[in-house]
Amino acid sequence: MRRPLVAGNWKMHGTRASVAELIEGVRQQVLPADVDVAVFPSSLHIVQVVEGLNGKAVKVGAQDCAAQVEQGALTGELAVSQLVDGGCELVLVGHSERRLILGESDEVVVRKFAAVQAAGLTPVLCVGETREQREANKTLGVVGGQLAAVIDALGVEALKNAVVAYEPVWAIGTGLTATPEQAQEVHAAIRAQVAQLDAGVASGLRILYGGSVKAASAAELFGMRDIDGGLVGGASLNADEFGAICRAAGN
Ligand code: PEP
Repeated sequence: MRRPLVAGNWKMHGTRASVAELIEGVRQQVLPADVDVAVFPSSLHIVQVVEGLNGKAVKVGAQDCAAQVEQGALTGELAVSQLVDGGCELVLVGHSERRLILGESDEVVVRKFAAVQAAGLTPVLCVGETREQREANKTLGVVGGQLAAVIDALGVEALKNAVVAYEPVWAIGTGLTATPEQAQEVHAAIRAQVAQLDAGVASGLRILYGGSVKAASAAELFGMRDIDGGLVGGASLNADEFGAICRAAGN
């Protein structure tokens, strides 16, 4: 049985004051004991959040990291060892905003994925198709290709200590959520792709759905056989809404 994970991606939002309020709001949530919960604040706020959530069963992650493992002369970047030092346990890798707006290639995504694991952290690999790709019936090919880039470079075993997040680009921040059936189809295809190489890794792999998840839509999505929780953007900035989404993933 896979343990669900609900993760909040706070993106490039917040000030120290608003983050303090959000921490307090998250602290007040009753979180289900059978669900892992994580939040991904901006890099500037990671330490504040780690300290603020001390004692609460919420992991903290980073939204990105340097592809280079070693610390060094790389202005503006954050090394995985710095994220460990700051108290992170997970790192988002390949979010569509980084792939499409910031031009991050599969090759860079793979290097970041490997760097995260080299530091003993858990990568959350984001994959997903654009609206045009879905309309051209390319969804499974695009998502399968993004996943294959990691598997081909690092081996299927690399997915033992990783999470995959299926996030259709057309559903991110748009208010359009994939139907549970649309999401399940892709989640099942991801698991089948991994199962062809290693059935054990496939059955243990947590695959999250992301894309305008709200408390109202969460339970139905999380009820699908291959959906193991969610990666939540906008709704995670409201602690009560996020708490309700976490509870929807519990039994
Ligand atoms: C995201 O960016 O990871 C995301 C899922 O955003 P939203 O929930 O706002 O669509």
